[in-house]
Amino acid sequence: MNRLFISVFSLSFLLLSCHSQKDIAVSTPQTPVPPSNIVSGYWQQHVDYKMDIDMDVNTYQYKGKQKLVYTNNSPDVLNKVFYHLYFNAFQPGSEMDVRSLTIADPDGRVKDRISKLKPNEIGYIKVNSLKQNGVTLIHETVGTVLEVELAKPITPGESVTFDMVFDGQVPVQIRRSGRNNKEGVALSMAQWYPKLAEYDFEGWHADPYIGREFHGVWGNFDVKLTIDKNYIIGGTGYLQNPNEIGYGYETGTINRPNSDKLTWHFVAPKVHDFTWAADPDYSHDTKQVPNGPLLHFLYKSTMPKEKLENWKNLQPKAVELMQFFSGNVGQYPYKQYSVIQGGDGGMEYGMCTLILGEGSFEGLFGVTAHEMGHSWFQFILASNELRHSWMDEGFTEYIGTLAESHIFNKDFEALSKRVYDVYTYLAKSGKEQPQSTHSDRYNFNQSYSISAYYKGYVFLKQLAYVIGQENQEKTIKQYFRDFSFKHPRPVDFIRTAEKISGLELDWYLIDWTQTTNTIDYAVKSVDNKSVTLERIGLMPMPIDVLVTYADGTTEDFYIPLQMMRGEKPTVATTIKDWAWAYPTYTFNVSKTIKSVEIDPKSLMADIDKTNNKK
Ligand SMILES: [Zn+2]
Repeated sequence: MNRLFISVFSLSFLLLSCHSQKDIAVSTPQTPVPPSNIVSGYWQQHVDYKMDIDMDVNTYQYKGKQKLVYTNNSPDVLNKVFYHLYFNAFQPGSEMDVRSLTIADPDGRVKDRISKLKPNEIGYIKVNSLKQNGVTLIHETVGTVLEVELAKPITPGESVTFDMVFDGQVPVQIRRSGRNNKEGVALSMAQWYPKLAEYDFEGWHADPYIGREFHGVWGNFDVKLTIDKNYIIGGTGYLQNPNEIGYGYETGTINRPNSDKLTWHFVAPKVHDFTWAADPDYSHDTKQVPNGPLLHFLYKSTMPKEKLENWKNLQPKAVELMQFFSGNVGQYPYKQYSVIQGGDGGMEYGMCTLILGEGSFEGLFGVTAHEMGHSWFQFILASNELRHSWMDEGFTEYIGTLAESHIFNKDFEALSKRVYDVYTYLAKSGKEQPQSTHSDRYNFNQSYSISAYYKGYVFLKQLAYVIGQENQEKTIKQYFRDFSFKHPRPVDFIRTAEKISGLELDWYLIDWTQTTNTIDYAVKSVDNKSVTLERIGLMPMPIDVLVTYADGTTEDFYIPLQMMRGEKPTVATTIKDWAWAYPTYTFNVSKTIKSVEIDPKSLMADIDKTNNKK
C-alpha cells in the first residue's frame, strides 16, 4: 500500500538526493528460464467475475449485478463461502472507525472522520439477492464480511455460479477509495464490489476490513461500467469498446455519442482484484514501453500548470521504471499499466495504481516507483498481505528505491542506510512486534509501518550480505519465475534463496520475521596478532571483518555461520566458522594489528555499531 503513510515517521527521506554516486548493477531481460519444479502439490482457487454496474454520479450510488463462477481447486469440500464488503468499513461504529478512534497513533487521514460521516456520505454494499446455481442462498452481512451458507457443498474440482444483485454507495474519501478526494477526483473505486474471500492452504481469509491489506482469489474479470457520458475511466483491464463509446483510449481523443450514459467494457485476465477511477476532467496520455506494456496516465486537467508539467515529466521516467523492474525482477506480463490520480497517497492495484497527483515531482516519481513496483510484489507475486506485509511492502520499497537510485544516479547504499537507521530505531524502541504479526494486530500504526516497509527492506538488502549480491539478485528472479500468479509464502522465498545459494537459511527467516531478536556483534578485544569477537544479540549472522595492520595494509576476513553449512562467494580470507551458541570467537593473524572492524560496509543491521570497531 501507500508509500506516503511512512512519511508520518520520516518524511519521504528516500527521495532526498545523495552526495556520491555509485553504479548499481542492472541486468537486462534474459532468456526466460522455466519455473523449477518446486510447487507440486500447490493449488489455488479460481474466479471468473462478470459484473454490470450502473453508477449515478449525482448520488454516488450504484447498482450492480455480479455473476461469479467459482472453481474449487482445493482438496476440500466447502460448505460456506465469504465475500468482502469493504465499503461497509466507512460507517460510524465500524471496526475501522473504532480502531482508528482507540489506537494510540491513528492514521492522520482517518482519525475520527468515519465517525462523522452522514448517511448520504457513508459507504455501503447491500446484497439484495444471492443464488448458487439458481438456488437462493441464506446470507448475512456482518460488518465488512458477507457470510453465506451454501445450498449444496462445493466438491473438489467443482465450479459453481453465484448470481448476486447489490446496491452500493461510494463513501466520502477516507482511505484508498471514495468520492471527491481532496484533489477533487470524483470517483476512486477500489475495494468497491462484493469480493469473494480467499480460501487457500491456510483456510478461509474472511478478514474484516479494519485497517489495511488484502488477499484475493486469482481469476478473470469482465466488467461493464455504465456512467455519465462526461466521465473518463481508467483502471484495471483492457477497454473492449472504444469505438462504441466514442473514446480513443489509445490516443485520448473523445467523440461522445449522444446519450446521457455510456457503458465502458473492460476485461482483465489473470488478476486478483479490479479497480477503477473516473472523473470528467481527466487528461489521458499514453506512452509505449519498448518491448513492454502501453502506459496510461490519467490526471486532472484542472491542476495548476506546474503540476501538469510534473505529470508530463513523469511519463518517460515511468517507462524507465517499467524497464528496470522487468529487467531486475521479471518481465511485466500484461499489455498495459495505468498511473491514475485518485485515492490517497498511493495504492497498488491490478495493472494500475491510484496516487495523489499534486505533490512535488520527486514525490510523484517516488510514489509511482513504489506503487509500480507492487505490480511485481503483490499483483504478480500475490503473497498474503495481512499475514506477511513485509513481503510486499518491504520488497517493493527495496526494488523501488533501487530503481530510483539507478534512474537518478543516487547512492543506493546511502538511501539504504536511512532505512537501516529507521529499523534500528524500532528495534530499540520497545514497541517492535514480530513481522509475522497480522497487519491489523500491531499495537501502533508506526510499528506496523516500520516493520513492513523498513524491516522488510532490510530483510532483502541484508540477504545480499548473507548469501552474496549475485545470489540475492538471482533469488529475486527465480522467485518471480516460480511464484508468479500464485500466493507465495515466506518459506517459498527463503527456499528459493537456499536453492540458489546452496546455503541453509531457515534461521534467517525465523529470527528476522518471527521474532524481535536483534543483531549485535562486537569486537571484544584485540591483542597484537589476535582478535576476539563477541555475539551480544540473539540473532545469528555470518561476519565480515576488516583488519588493518600496523604496517598500514588491510585484510578482509569472512567468518561463516556454522548453521549455514557453507560459505557465500567472497574474495575475503575465509576462516573457520562460528557456531552460534558460542558467545565469543577468537582468530589469529600473521601481522601486528592496528585496528579491527566488523562489517565495514555496514551491510548488516547491527543495532549497536559503537562496539563494532577497536
Ligand atoms: Zn506499498
